[in-house]
Amino acid sequence: MTEVFNFCAGPAMLPKAVMTKAQNEFINWNDTGSSVMELSHRSSIYMAMAAEAEADLRDLMAIPDNYKVLFCHGGGRGQFSAVPLNLLPQGKSADYIVNGSWSKAAAAEAKNFGDINVINIREERSDGATSLTAVNQWPLNNDAAYVHYCPNETVDGIEINDIPDTHGVPLVADMSSTILSHEIDVTKFGLIYAGAQKNIGPSGLTLVIVHEDLLGHAQLATPCIMNYQTSANNDSMYNTPPTYSWYLAGLVFKWLKELGGVKAIAKINKEKADLLYQTIDSSNFYTNNIEQQYRSKMNIPFWLTDESLNEKFLIQAEQQGLTALKGHRIVGGMRASIYNAMPIEGVQALVDFMKKFEKGAR
Ligand SMILES: *Cc1c(COP(=O)(O)O)cnc(C)c1O
Repeated sequence: MTEVFNFCAGPAMLPKAVMTKAQNEFINWNDTGSSVMELSHRSSIYMAMAAEAEADLRDLMAIPDNYKVLFCHGGGRGQFSAVPLNLLPQGKSADYIVNGSWSKAAAAEAKNFGDINVINIREERSDGATSLTAVNQWPLNNDAAYVHYCPNETVDGIEINDIPDTHGVPLVADMSSTILSHEIDVTKFGLIYAGAQKNIGPSGLTLVIVHEDLLGHAQLATPCIMNYQTSANNDSMYNTPPTYSWYLAGLVFKWLKELGGVKAIAKINKEKADLLYQTIDSSNFYTNNIEQQYRSKMNIPFWLTDESLNEKFLIQAEQQGLTALKGHRIVGGMRASIYNAMPIEGVQALVDFMKKFEKGAR
């Protein structure tokens, strides 16, 4: 079988070294004679692993002690509900920045739980390029309970690199598709959440990193399994956590640390993205219309100028072991998701194929 590079947006590729380790200890973990997924989450050996995973994540992201790290169920969309339930009291409203499909969905869900102020920052320019309102121009409400935004729009391929200054209003970020891809200053955020299946591990696990001051104000109707305070009080084990996903996330954190941490992977991520964007920009056969400064380094959509070749492109790519390149149905075209686990060799193979395909089609 030819080597496969999987460009799926999520669930996404995992590092081969991590998969191999997981495979080797799948039925006998740490000489317990059991698989890690068969053990009680309250066994001392499991709890030690869980604590180590948290410590490694804290290390990787430099998370201060006055932030809790919660290992939750429910995915990114679960947090679309949990965030307003926990942070939006009656009589207050929250600002929702919309720059793509996930931030739009987050705002739509939050409307079910309180008063929402939607701020559209997307600008479609007359030359066909997509741009955004600069972060320091966002019309924020100083009395908002929080500001929610999505720094990397997975479907649209739009990334906001500057962290907005919200003048003391807690900043909430959906980092599902960008967490651990480059260094960030956690202290600028009130809350960060991320579904695991893009840049962390398998689906089923959602990370929440939340400042202590934001705990304890949940709406009365908040389900206990979504209540951050309840989770924090019980070390994310109020109910059975997604134990296997937690374990695998822990392996990914160790892999990342060995590689040199977030700073090291950020450098590789930039090289990968530069390589692909250069290939797109240097041809008029492929296009990407996102303004340079807002281009995502994780999810790169591109379009064939001749859309009738889409099917052929996908079939031939697949034959080369380049899979899951079909763009999201609402934007069409192609999309290459190149998270931390995608090696530069995968992107090199993709651009080699793109150049060959372009030649063949001319
Ligand atoms: C994938 C994704 C989600 C949805 O995650 P689920 O785990 O499927 O609920 C939300 N936000 C962003 C930015 C995503 O990329």
